[in-house]
Amino acid sequence: MSARTLNGNAIRDQIYAELAGEIAALAAAGIRPGLAAVRVGDDPASKLYVTSKIAACEKLGLASFHVTPPATISTDELLALVGELNARDDVDGILVQMPLPRHIDSKRILDAVSPEKDVDGFHPVNVGHLVAGRPTLVACTPAGVMEILRRSGIATEGANAVVIGRSDIVGKPMALLLLHANATVTICHSKSRDLPGIARRADILVAAIGRAAMVTPDFVKPGAAVIDVGQIVVRDSGEAERIFAKFPAKLESLRAKGSVLVGDVHPEVAEVAGALTPVPGGVGPLTIAMLMSNTVRAARVRRGVELVGVVGRA
Ligand code: NAP
Repeated sequence: MSARTLNGNAIRDQIYAELAGEIAALAAAGIRPGLAAVRVGDDPASKLYVTSKIAACEKLGLASFHVTPPATISTDELLALVGELNARDDVDGILVQMPLPRHIDSKRILDAVSPEKDVDGFHPVNVGHLVAGRPTLVACTPAGVMEILRRSGIATEGANAVVIGRSDIVGKPMALLLLHANATVTICHSKSRDLPGIARRADILVAAIGRAAMVTPDFVKPGAAVIDVGQIVVRDSGEAERIFAKFPAKLESLRAKGSVLVGDVHPEVAEVAGALTPVPGGVGPLTIAMLMSNTVRAARVRRGVELVGVVGRA
C-alpha cells in the first residue's frame, strides 16, 4: 500500500485563488490589506522566511512593509516600533519574525502587537479566543493543517487525533482546532510514555516535533492520515543515508545541495498510512497561505467589511 499524497502546493493555490476574489472585492471597496513584517538583524533563515512572506503579498496584490531594524535595537525601541505599526491605518497585519536576538524580551514584543493585527495568532487575547472556540486570528501552521484535512476530505468528527508536540505555535493550537472540529484529541510530548502505542490509536496523526524521521511505521495505524509539520535541515550524509536508504533521489539531492529537508515522519510511513503530507510541499506552503488569509481577514474585520464565502473560516 502507498499513502495518498496530500499536496500542500495544490491546496495553497486553491486558497490563493479564493483569496484573490476576496482581495478584488475589498479593492472595489477601496481597501488594500497591508502586512508589516518586522525582521530584526541579519539571521539568514529569518531573511528567507520574511522574503517568502513578502513575495506572497506581492503575488496576491497585498501591500507589504518590510521593517528591518538592526540586531542592536533595544526592547524599548522595538516596542515603540510595534506601537507605530499598531497605529498605522495602512497596516492590517503585523508579524515579528522569531527568533529575536537574546537581549530582547520576545514575550513583551509579541504581547505589544495589537490583537486585531496579530496575524500570527500568538497574542494571549487571540489564544484565549481560540480556547473558547470564538472566531479569531489563529496560528498559521495549525490553521493550514485544518485546511489540508478539510480540503482533502479527511473527516475529523469522532476521529481519534494524536498531536505529537505541545508548542504554543503548533502543537497546542493544533490540538484545540482538532477539538473544536469534534475530534477526540490526545496531546503527546517528550515526557509521554509509550509514544508509538498512543500514536497507533490515531486516525489522524500530527507530528510537530522537530526530530528528523522520528515517526516510524510502528507509530502508525494502517490507513491513518499523517500530517508532517516538522522541517529539519539534515546535512550529515550518514544520517540522510539512514533515513533515505530506499530513496536514492533524495540522496542525490543531498549530494547536489549539501543538505536535505526532512520531516518528523520517516518516508517509509507511506507504506502504512492512508494519506501523508510530503516534506517539502505539504504543510509548509499552507503556513504562508494562512498568513495571507489572516491578513485579509484582519483588514476586513478591522474595517467592518463583511464578505460571504471567506477562506478557511467555515
Ligand atoms: P518546539 O517548540 O521545539 O516543540 C517541539 C515539541 O515536540 C515539544 O512539545 C516537545 O516536547 C516535543 N518533542 C520533542 N522531542 C520529542 C520526543 N522525542 N518525543 C515526543 N515529543 C517530543 O517546535 P515547534 O516550533 O512546535 O516546531 C516543531 C517542528 O515543526 C519543527 O521542525 C519546526 O521547524 C516545524 N515547523 C514547521 C512549520 C511549517 O510551516 N511547516 C511551522 C512551524 C514549525 P516538550 O514540550 O516536552 O519539550
